[in-house]
Amino acid sequence: MKFGGTSVADADAITRVVGIVKAARASSGLPPVVIVSAMSGVTDRLLELTASAERRRDAHVQNGIAELSRRHFEALERLLPPDAANDVLVEIGAQLEDLRALLKATGILRAASPSAHDAIVCTGELINSRIVAAALEQQGVPAAWVDARRAIVTDSAHTSASPKPEETREAVGREIIPRVAEGRVPVVGGFVGATSQGVTTTLGRGGSDYSAAIIGAALDSREIQIWTDVDGMLTADPRVVESPHVVPYLSFGEASELAYFGAKVLHPSTILPAVAKDIPVRILNSRRSGGPGTTITAEPPAADRALAAVACKRHVTMVEITSTRMLMAHGFLRRVFEVFERYRTAVDVVTTSEVSVSVTVDDAARLDDIVDALREFSEVNVEGGLAILCAVGDNLRCDPRIAARVIGALDGCPVRMVSQAASRRNVTIVVRDEDLARGMAQLHGEFFG
Ligand code: ASP
Ligand code: MG
Repeated sequence: MKFGGTSVADADAITRVVGIVKAARASSGLPPVVIVSAMSGVTDRLLELTASAERRRDAHVQNGIAELSRRHFEALERLLPPDAANDVLVEIGAQLEDLRALLKATGILRAASPSAHDAIVCTGELINSRIVAAALEQQGVPAAWVDARRAIVTDSAHTSASPKPEETREAVGREIIPRVAEGRVPVVGGFVGATSQGVTTTLGRGGSDYSAAIIGAALDSREIQIWTDVDGMLTADPRVVESPHVVPYLSFGEASELAYFGAKVLHPSTILPAVAKDIPVRILNSRRSGGPGTTITAEPPAADRALAAVACKRHVTMVEITSTRMLMAHGFLRRVFEVFERYRTAVDVVTTSEVSVSVTVDDAARLDDIVDALREFSEVNVEGGLAILCAVGDNLRCDPRIAARVIGALDGCPVRMVSQAASRRNVTIVVRDEDLARGMAQLHGEFFG
């Protein structure tokens, strides 16, 4: 069970987590393993303090540390009576002392090395996991804090380390499984690991999901639960479509397609270790436990739904590149994409005909340069004010009528581009931004209304 930053943001949130863990333990008989993020905003703050220390804003850094200490001590005070809090207070105090020393050294050196950076930013997870472990114990749930640096073994690619599966499996067997066997709930800070020499590393932003997948895979868990502040993946963006539903099942492929559209509930690559072992990953709401959430698996039960979800993205620019000289010639696409590469601009949707290519870009910052370079060998037309609309579902691969229904549902919205990529689990359509809300409503109504 992994709890994200908003699910463990303060004493109230942690109290809800204790209730959820208690209920899970009672219903499954086995203690779950709990993975904890930093309190929301803490990792950002630690990064900011690192940058400030490098610029010798010493007073600002001191204030920042004091504020972080206050936030954690305050939560602890509300969760535990003073006599029970003593041990944790000492441990957290030591952790904050290390933070102070690391930031001081950063100031003196005017730079944080990658290993110093990791030792600083893991503070949020290390402290918060201790608080959660203590809160569980206090509420009568036998728990044991586990030092994530002894449980997740990584390479030494600081700030975005990769786990070493064999060593991690061994370490998990040594550090976590015995606690479970004793009937205790192991509580582990997410996001952090260590090299086999014991040097602290972190797994990259959003890395607590990754920790959950790594540990879940090493334990061969029955399932991995990602507790967050939404009910699950939705059939559409609630800012665009009125009252979308929770998607009950999602394949890993579908989740990957949706991630691009800002369905940022989790980054699909972080759950790969779980999906590779066919362990279901569930997204659940810690503010409203009891909902079914969304379950992501490699191959979900062959649902009779036509689509999994629809998604969209605003403020997209289309570049149309035409060159009659290129008719039947080779090398045209290479030349086109070389230009985008030169100006480090990602291309999202692509459609081609024999003499033209249309692409969309999100980031139009380098567009003038790009257009100049493309005009050296082609005619170029740029159209802004567009939006991407995307229908996602594994069944698109086998039932051609679904794609026809997608296009049909957009009746009245002029379509600027249509594409179905190699995965064939999505149909992507570019429309004018002003038609997006209506198009999405019609599309969502057709499939989920
Ligand atoms: N606290 C880390 C971050 O904000 C890791 C996580 O919560 O997933 O990126
Ligand atoms: Mg996250």
